[in-house]
Amino acid sequence: MKVLVCGGSGYIGSNMTATLAENGHEPFVYDNLSKGHVSAVKDAQFIKGDLADYELLVKTLKENEIDAVMHFAAFIEVGESVAEPLKYYHNNVSNTQTVLAAMETVGVGKFVFSSTAAVYGMPNQIPINEDMPKDPINPYGQTKWASERMLHWQCNAGKVRYAALRYFNACGAGHDCTLGEDHSPESHLIPLIIQAAMGKREDIKIFGTDYPTKDGTCIRDYIHVEDLCSAHLLALEKLEKEKELVYNLGNGKGYSVREVIETVKKVSGKNFKVVETQRRPGDPPVLTSDASRAISELGWKTKLADIEKIVETAWQWHNKYPNGYQD
Ligand code: UDP
Repeated sequence: MKVLVCGGSGYIGSNMTATLAENGHEPFVYDNLSKGHVSAVKDAQFIKGDLADYELLVKTLKENEIDAVMHFAAFIEVGESVAEPLKYYHNNVSNTQTVLAAMETVGVGKFVFSSTAAVYGMPNQIPINEDMPKDPINPYGQTKWASERMLHWQCNAGKVRYAALRYFNACGAGHDCTLGEDHSPESHLIPLIIQAAMGKREDIKIFGTDYPTKDGTCIRDYIHVEDLCSAHLLALEKLEKEKELVYNLGNGKGYSVREVIETVKKVSGKNFKVVETQRRPGDPPVLTSDASRAISELGWKTKLADIEKIVETAWQWHNKYPNGYQD
């Protein structure tokens, strides 16, 4: 299939682009480079473009005879979404609408959407399955949920087939550890701990040690980026027959912040300063997935469920690219 990967120069999008190419598909990356890195784009044609640019999207879809669109080009920082909600509604909702409108105009009928566990807000039951209430507690989660609803109604109208994939904590580096996490600013736990281990950051702060968990710190479900990509590929293939797919993507296993810090210490062989601070607003104590629907319906199998293996891949990437990508 010819697949347009919106946001294909970012962390998950670049891994997906490489996975598509490896599996005999033809990826085209569409990205405005506001966050991503052109050097992370492998084996794909690159189109510099903005998702708000309807005309360019129509032209790109038409000229390249695109069969399906995968959409990774969202803003992802929870704190920023609270401070700048319109920025999130614009990029995460309006721009998704523009992509869907361009697809409708050209007649491109398949869409795979990056969604998030943040659509569940503060779940009252763990592990979380897809049918549990959607009650986002910040604009980031809300904009992803709004896009999912838009997809549902566009699908209901017979205009698109789609898969919404709700990621838990994406992490690790893929494709021989050449494609890793290079966010600016960085806000995710594993890269921040690795930066502390590399001496690039004074310390790692634990946001809250008084949660009702075994060691008082938050528990998350860490899922390797290549495992995410394999699920996307299976979902894309399943859209040949199905019109609406919604899956949680996680390992179903939770690790605490302290456990992840200890894992980085073990993998890196480095010691570094750990500072206990207050809770970060809006953090649920425990988020773990019930991904049994993706396992049974897609035949999805994760390969890198072990936190030590996940961290090893991230550690290798950070050592290959100590200053991140050059462009
Ligand atoms: N966290 C932390 N210190 C940091 C960054 C994150 O203690 O410097 C915690 C955060 O409170 C959460 C977990 O690590 O419980 C994972 O956070 P991250 O931002 O990576 O992902 P999220 O779960 O918010 O999607």
